[in-house]
Amino acid sequence: MTMKPSSTCPGCNGRRVYASKEISAGGGHAPDYLPGLGQSWWSGAAKLTVVVCADCGLIRSFAGEDALRKLPDSKHWRKL
Ligand SMILES: [Zn+2]
Repeated sequence: MTMKPSSTCPGCNGRRVYASKEISAGGGHAPDYLPGLGQSWWSGAAKLTVVVCADCGLIRSFAGEDALRKLPDSKHWRKL
């Protein structure tokens, strides 16, 4: 299963939607948005892709595939 951010904005139905490269989900001075889902202690935080709508400014973020795989077994997360 691959997360594919839609190219249509769910906020305004606009189509001027831009995705970032994969960026670190935290570490350093930033809060860690995906605790416990990083590769390992030596390679740092999990990766995420940020998608921004150029019309309404809605920001969505999508966890990388490695993080998604770890989610079900991570003690940092509980299923709702
Ligand atoms: Zn929008």
